[in-house]
Amino acid sequence: MQKLKVSAHCPSCGAPLELQEGANVSRCPFCNLPLLFQSPHSILSYYLEPKVEKKEIPFRLDRFRKENGESLSRRVDEIKLYYLPFWRFTSQVFYTLIDDSSCESFQEVKEAEILTKDWDINFAAHNSNDFSLSTLGMRPEWLKLILLTDENLITDGDVLNPEIDSITAKDKALQSLLVLMENHRSSEMELVNRFLDETLSLIYFPVWTVNFITGEGKHFQVIDGITGRTLKQSPGTFELKKIENRKAQEVCLPKIIPHRCPNCGWDLPVTPNQLVFPCENCRRIWKISENSYQQVNGEIAKIKDLPITDPSKTINYYPFWVFETRPQKENAFSIQKLTELLPSEIGWFKVRDKSKPFLFYIPAFDIKNLGKIPVLSLILTRTQPDLETETWGKSELTGAVMSPEDAQKIAEIAWIYLLSSKINIPLGEWRDLTFENGRIIWYPYYEEGSFMEDAVSGYTFQTYKPQV
Ligand SMILES: [Zn+2]
Ligand SMILES: [Zn+2]
Repeated sequence: MQKLKVSAHCPSCGAPLELQEGANVSRCPFCNLPLLFQSPHSILSYYLEPKVEKKEIPFRLDRFRKENGESLSRRVDEIKLYYLPFWRFTSQVFYTLIDDSSCESFQEVKEAEILTKDWDINFAAHNSNDFSLSTLGMRPEWLKLILLTDENLITDGDVLNPEIDSITAKDKALQSLLVLMENHRSSEMELVNRFLDETLSLIYFPVWTVNFITGEGKHFQVIDGITGRTLKQSPGTFELKKIENRKAQEVCLPKIIPHRCPNCGWDLPVTPNQLVFPCENCRRIWKISENSYQQVNGEIAKIKDLPITDPSKTINYYPFWVFETRPQKENAFSIQKLTELLPSEIGWFKVRDKSKPFLFYIPAFDIKNLGKIPVLSLILTRTQPDLETETWGKSELTGAVMSPEDAQKIAEIAWIYLLSSKINIPLGEWRDLTFENGRIIWYPYYEEGSFMEDAVSGYTFQTYKPQV
């Protein structure tokens, strides 16, 4: 997905700063203060600065008329700047194609064929006036978004209200994405998909309107405030129509606050995409939620109970969401039941206590190749490690980027994939598991450059190191 640049201001020293769209935290380059910008699911608003000035408008309008062989304007009456709202929806889709009619041959365990795709769509949120601009397009030259906050509001033009509310906007976006996703399906296969990292934002785009008089009478033009292109010309006078009562209230003007441990005041790690931050000073772990912090229990896999592949290497701990599972018609799901259902999954036969509940593991840290997320999930889920945990002591913990809601969606699709890749399993009643009581467990890895190795199974993959 194309991550746009966002510019904002430090609430402490006022310096301008730039961050990547979607980043939750950043650091002021001038006063060095770590800052919390947003929480997951908050709908942020941005605007784009006009690149065309008011004094250029009479020239632009005549240039358009000249190019179209029309007479030049005799008098320019009124020039106004409007900010038109657009909803932008971005998401990562995880999907898999399943063949419900069961497979012919015994399949070997292979990397999960769960694919990912990024989606990014936008559409006008104000429709009572026709500005002849139904989507923003994505032209890199104007891609710097300016964050709207309590302290940074638009003052140089008329801001039009969104007339489509956020719920309708999200539904509309998801509906069109589902139609597009169906194109990935071949006739006999069923497409299973889950939308992750669903982000809705509002972008205000500048347009100029100009009323003028020619030999033929009154006319108006609508001019793109970024490119200066005439979007529309029409006889008559431009008059704004507004539907006042349809204002979308749920847009959030964030308060940018210092990103510090609520307990001890220590700076929390400035890792832009994380949601869960360990405090290295007081050893508490915080999850951001609605521009504030909630404490999370830190459970660390106890190393002395795990068979470590190379004790000489340094171990770092990476977070996993761990869910208890429940089939639709049963109260619980035991390892015993699983071994009956999936006899080719030898990992579960090795679990000593088969009355234990079946736990599902989802990596919660930044992974460069998104397709590896279900693969790593199934590696731990397939072995059901007998994890004992301890509280956070001296070890290095990496924060989590994945929300529990998104982790649940990965679990759903990984489970359906696992079932569908096995012979003679009717998906039927086993298909929909409930994933509940999510908690985070940190699990040991060796780290070598941008690669990581599971310290227990030896599986290697590349991580994503975001720029701070
Ligand atoms: Zn500052
Ligand atoms: Zn602290």
